[in-house]
Amino acid sequence: MKHNFGAGPCILPQIVFEEAAAAVLDFNGLSILEVSHRHKDFVAVMDETIALVKKALNVPTGYSVAFMQGGATLGFTVAALNMMRDQKRAGYFNTGTWAAGAIKEAKKVGIDVSVLASSEDKKFNYIPKDYIIPNDLDYVHFTSNNTIYGTQYKQFPVTDLPLVCDMSSDIFSQVIDVSKFDLIYAGAQKNLGPAGATLYIVKDEQLGKSTSSFMPSYLDLKQQVEKESMLNTPPVFSIYVSLLNLRNLLANGGVAEMEKRNIAKANLLYQEIDRNPLFVGTVNKEDRSNMNVTFTLLDDSNSADFDALWKGAGIVGLPGHRSTGGYRASLYNALPIESVQVLVDVMKHFESQR
Ligand SMILES: *Cc1c(COP(=O)(O)O)cnc(C)c1O
Repeated sequence: MKHNFGAGPCILPQIVFEEAAAAVLDFNGLSILEVSHRHKDFVAVMDETIALVKKALNVPTGYSVAFMQGGATLGFTVAALNMMRDQKRAGYFNTGTWAAGAIKEAKKVGIDVSVLASSEDKKFNYIPKDYIIPNDLDYVHFTSNNTIYGTQYKQFPVTDLPLVCDMSSDIFSQVIDVSKFDLIYAGAQKNLGPAGATLYIVKDEQLGKSTSSFMPSYLDLKQQVEKESMLNTPPVFSIYVSLLNLRNLLANGGVAEMEKRNIAKANLLYQEIDRNPLFVGTVNKEDRSNMNVTFTLLDDSNSADFDALWKGAGIVGLPGHRSTGGYRASLYNALPIESVQVLVDVMKHFESQR
């Protein structure tokens, strides 16, 4: 058995893999891979997926859910295009690679980006808490969990301006208050399903208000919502497997239960990182992510020995992002605490050998 700590695409529940595999062979007599997206059987899948997203996250009335393709990377553009208003100016928090990507794409569509705060001065190892939000902005954008650096907002920015969030790597991992947001987007492949679908949760009153002169139909959230995510062929398989995962999530206590489990998993690993003299955490303690735990060896010359140990224990996906090095243990919903215990035991074993 493998213990998959990969950052994304990532582990999903085994039962979801099994049900997905079964549907490839037989989905009401056809393969899920060949069924028409206009067939009532798939329309029912889309409807239920959207309904379960709303249920799992307690999405209030006045909000719509849509699925598109392009990943969170296209989400950077979709967010900027759809939230552009008269000022053509927006505030962004620069807390790492993905936040910087969102800034870059917003500028390309003509947003005058004002960086409200940045943690670049300390290699993105903290969440900036000192900032002033001017009121002449169309919206404020932040990245709730910094997948690469391992930091996470424990308190979301507070503003009366429209709030936009890239929630790719911690959506469905914890209870959130959707009513605080005007737009949330997230690539499916980190807690929801296979790569291919991208989730958008948008406040209805923001639809159709863009002042952008450039608005491809596909990128227009108003049209996507009106067409019920069927403006063109949706990523059928990714949405179907997301549905299986959402059913499983709700049958297992929902997001509140996941939050409890995720905190327990993260605490177990952070305690060992702090206790074990051979390891050191890479980010500010109060900003540590419960999804992506980043750490390094105090003495990097030991890395070959440590790497051999965790690989021997069946662990995969532990190396840090190619831009940071070190280690990153991603603890998404489907990763059992038993896998975290295996990693902790390897770390203890490694210590005992020194
Ligand atoms: C993975 C990730 C992205 C990029 O997602 P794609 O779907 O590959 O475009 C963007 N933002 C965050 C926070 C991520 O974790």
